[in-house]
Amino acid sequence: MIARRIAVPLAGILAGSSVLLTQPATAGVSPPVEKRPVAEGYGGAVSTVDPDASRAALEVLRRGGNAVDAAVAGAAVLGVTEPYSAGLAGGGFIVYYDARRKKVHTIDGRETAPRAMTSASLEGVPLDEAVTSGLSAGVPGSVAQWELALRRFGTLSLRQALQPAIRVAREGFTVDRTFHDQTAANAARFADFTSTARLFLPGGAPPPVGSTFRNPELAETYRLLGRYGGRWLYGGGLGAEIVKTVKNPPVAPGSARNVRPGLMELPDLRAYRALERPPTRTTYKGMDVYGMAPPSSGGSTVGEALNILEALPEAGMHEYLEASRLAFADRGRYVGDVPGVPLEELLSDGFAKERACLVGERAMPHPAPPGNPDGAYEPCPAADPAPPTAETPAEGPETTHLVVADRWGNVVAYNITIESTGGNGIVVPGRGFLLNNELTDFTFGPAPGDPNLPGPGKRPRSSMAPTIVLADGRPLLALGSPGGSTIITTVLQILVNRWELGMPLPEALAAPRATQRNTAQTQAEQGFIDRYGAELTARGHAFTLNPEIGAATAVEFLGRGRLQAVAEPSRRGGGSALVMIPAR
Ligand code: GLU
Repeated sequence: MIARRIAVPLAGILAGSSVLLTQPATAGVSPPVEKRPVAEGYGGAVSTVDPDASRAALEVLRRGGNAVDAAVAGAAVLGVTEPYSAGLAGGGFIVYYDARRKKVHTIDGRETAPRAMTSASLEGVPLDEAVTSGLSAGVPGSVAQWELALRRFGTLSLRQALQPAIRVAREGFTVDRTFHDQTAANAARFADFTSTARLFLPGGAPPPVGSTFRNPELAETYRLLGRYGGRWLYGGGLGAEIVKTVKNPPVAPGSARNVRPGLMELPDLRAYRALERPPTRTTYKGMDVYGMAPPSSGGSTVGEALNILEALPEAGMHEYLEASRLAFADRGRYVGDVPGVPLEELLSDGFAKERACLVGERAMPHPAPPGNPDGAYEPCPAADPAPPTAETPAEGPETTHLVVADRWGNVVAYNITIESTGGNGIVVPGRGFLLNNELTDFTFGPAPGDPNLPGPGKRPRSSMAPTIVLADGRPLLALGSPGGSTIITTVLQILVNRWELGMPLPEALAAPRATQRNTAQTQAEQGFIDRYGAELTARGHAFTLNPEIGAATAVEFLGRGRLQAVAEPSRRGGGSALVMIPAR
């Protein structure tokens, strides 16, 4: 029974115990708070990259909201404080453990391509032109996802869930180094759009670190969204403004940028639906690992790699890299928003055993060909004749992930994104938010047979991997990360660190990372190269430096109601982990 596991005085929580007096009385007001990467305690937990978002989500929990309420409220705040990673015009995936029904659900809020988009629409478009364009803007999914999540599993209305974000947008938040640097990195393209420059380059420059950044236009947009509901976006007035912006971006006079217009029309917005989908499920070391099904490749790729690791006699860093390489070969070949993705076979033990055969003492030759998830498995088949997979399209290093656990034992792992840092760089005039450029996650082509070519109404393949692990049917761990296709390896590596190498969760998150995605070289942080480089190079691995991989958030259930919320100690400026009642 979940209820038995939460051994805290609920009356105390509801009344506001002395412990809670250290928390602000109202959500979203933002005097600077210390960011802590680890918090342990009882009664509920939150981890995000941002203290304002974590605090808002915790406050929702404190007032009796559940994990879904808090996750939506937190995501909306991230749309204010992390506007280059998340926002109402983006998309994402929610994996949710429902304690009452003892069931894992997922909600797909992935953006869709307009109906006018075909498999040839992105062919020949230079990536950098696609990144900053109307063409790459997908039909936003987040608002529909929030509404569906709240309706199905929450207790708050959208209007209520948006209140903390409205306050933060109105009253402002303190600009930190990350926000400043992300603005500076985007300054050239932001300056090319009148609406974006006006909002994010006040006085022509990025807001200085330590200043207060207010976004009253976004506060008003959220307020009206709460009042009119998602219909305002999905076919109403806000939708019309989005379509106008996508088709006729507000390019600054004198800008030399070639800004391709988009194909989105109002009926595309009207047709959008967030979708409930069955989660992916893999058993691993007696635990059940639940993830996100297509159009994300997160669940199938993490799951397949875990199965391969289980089929090997040992699982260290060499095996982690090789399992990931193989799983990425299959991801590229088979996974996309298409009918007939062989999900069950990709996640079968038989297939994993066949794939595990290819893992030897030395790194396998590049590229690893995809396997044959056809249900007929041999111990060690000859190499598959199928052509190698297309190169993984470049995916931006941004997005964000949050976890929430509530006093009832419900758990949310939620990835939200606008794709690139700063999305497509185009703010909808007067509305305070950036559009996404998620459609750059499609394979541009020509690539006959690739499951991830664009198509009308299609959702681009994602790597987002919000993950919930159950043991004996109870939540044990929830985690996720940003980082484009490195999301998959970050989640996988944290699980390997935790369960194969026995690291406690804070260490498993903080440990230096490497990412092998069926590429000739493995990207790795310097700390990883220092720790494992010599041994792995001797086994045929080659490394290139990636200064920072991922920005994970997680929560572990330690038993007897004790929760450990964990965020990054230093990547991307460090995250913010909070619990309702801190343990002494
Ligand atoms: N667009 C990416 C994906 O869906 C997420 C954004 C990122 O982290 O780059 O996989």
